[in-house]
Amino acid sequence: MFVLVTLRKIVGRCKRDAVADLAERRGAMTALIYVDPVSVRPVVDGVWHLTWLSAVPTPGEEVRMLCGEAAEAAFVPLRERTAQGALTQCPYCDLEYRRSHGYEILPNHPGLRPRVRQGRSW
Ligand SMILES: [Zn+2]
Repeated sequence: MFVLVTLRKIVGRCKRDAVADLAERRGAMTALIYVDPVSVRPVVDGVWHLTWLSAVPTPGEEVRMLCGEAAEAAFVPLRERTAQGALTQCPYCDLEYRRSHGYEILPNHPGLRPRVRQGRSW
């Protein structure tokens, strides 16, 4: 997933108050890293998806994409996004996004094709 936190310690998440409380108890300052949930584009196996997040997920929290796929959230540096090659867009998320916004869906939209993915049930 593509929102990238460069610090390994858990700081800057939406549970800011809890993190700040923990830091205060330890006598440390909190480094907040602000992430806009609207800009989050989860990447699973080289495919970026769309999702509606109301808050930034915590690491390990399940994130469900518009296409129905779910995966656990993890945060890595942005430079790692394309380390395995170019990302592709999930056509099923795009289809759901278009439907939800009333955008035109052409008859040849790839999201209208049946899903084929080994090792996973949809
Ligand atoms: Zn998707």
